[in-house]
Amino acid sequence: MVHNVTLIRGDGTGPELVEATRRVLEAAVEKYGSSFNWDVVEAGVDIMETAGTPLPPNVLESIRKNKVALKGPITTPIGTGFRSVNVALRKELDLFACIRPCKTYAGVRSRYTDIDITIVRENTEDLYAGVEYDVDSPEAKQIIAMQPGKIRSDAAISIKPISITGTRRIVKSAFEYAKENGRKKVTAVCKANIMKFTDGLFYRVAREVAEEYKADGIEYDEWLVDAMCMQLVQKPENYDVLVMPNLYGDILSDLCAGLVGGLGVAPGANLGDTMALFEATHGSAPKYKNQNKVNPAAMILSGLLMLKYLKEADAAKTLEAAVEAVFAEGKDVTYDMKADRNDPSAVGTSQMADAIIAKIQAA
Ligand code: NAD
Repeated sequence: MVHNVTLIRGDGTGPELVEATRRVLEAAVEKYGSSFNWDVVEAGVDIMETAGTPLPPNVLESIRKNKVALKGPITTPIGTGFRSVNVALRKELDLFACIRPCKTYAGVRSRYTDIDITIVRENTEDLYAGVEYDVDSPEAKQIIAMQPGKIRSDAAISIKPISITGTRRIVKSAFEYAKENGRKKVTAVCKANIMKFTDGLFYRVAREVAEEYKADGIEYDEWLVDAMCMQLVQKPENYDVLVMPNLYGDILSDLCAGLVGGLGVAPGANLGDTMALFEATHGSAPKYKNQNKVNPAAMILSGLLMLKYLKEADAAKTLEAAVEAVFAEGKDVTYDMKADRNDPSAVGTSQMADAIIAKIQAA
């Protein structure tokens, strides 16, 4: 089978990570008679200079046509400059569910063992909706006037929308993920004691959806986000699938990535009803650009999620076994996976990909 996939190279270390991942995925599917027809497109700071926009229209057109994309990380300037391309892609394509599996692998250094948590993060609402008013703007003044004494006159304001529709579909995604992957429990994470209407709505709708999945034997529980952070640090092995609004999901994704060995091994998928975009949790790590240094594993494991989505189950299994073997041997891995980060035996991005390809071919 030939899979048409949009390949977004990204910026910073993105292009080198994407190239390593492309080679590994091709080796995995080739073994089972499939191949990729990549549509390579550019987004991010580099194309901004020539195209005048970090997200040229052909990128969205390509994803809408192919329905599947693999994406390298893209830099977002802090405070000023263009808004996040990553957020724009998720919003434009209505990729409302961000799935981030965090699993301990033998050979990956971590303080914990036996963790297998999947974060299901809502991707389109909450404080990421982009409804934000600058200090002294007419809108900010209007809102301040609506709440006398509650908001200081020199405040900038962000709006946090949480809808029934958005909550229902993300919680359903979490339960569907649990069902498809033989998981036992879904935990909703919020701060409903403080945000009684927005986060309160999230819990209320989550409970309704949980009722619909009772017959499937999937347990449901709830934690406040602050308590959840402590639970995750103290007893992470107790948690299975976690579902939450956008901001908490962003923060807990990094926390859980830290539990299993860091951003170098944390993959992700952004799913909508008809389209999917696969990318690592980490960013563009621009200080390592063009050094053939950073860990391609998170991007490769995102590719693994893509193989499962494309129903390339055998290729996915072979790829995961190959990655596990390279991790467990601990020889052909990047600096961040060595006990000493200055270990001269650490290999580069491309060489770690070569080692995974060799395992795939030998399988
Ligand atoms: P980052 O994830 O890019 O890097 C933080 C640090 O983590 C790096 O300095 C490096 O030490 C380590 N790291 C990250 N990826 C690694 C890898 N593959 N292998 C080994 N070590 C790795 O986070 P940041 O510095 O906060 O963000 C840099 C840029 O990336 C920002 O502009 C940010 O907005 C953007 N970003 C993009 C995405 C995305 O494309 N989805 C996600 C997060 C951040």
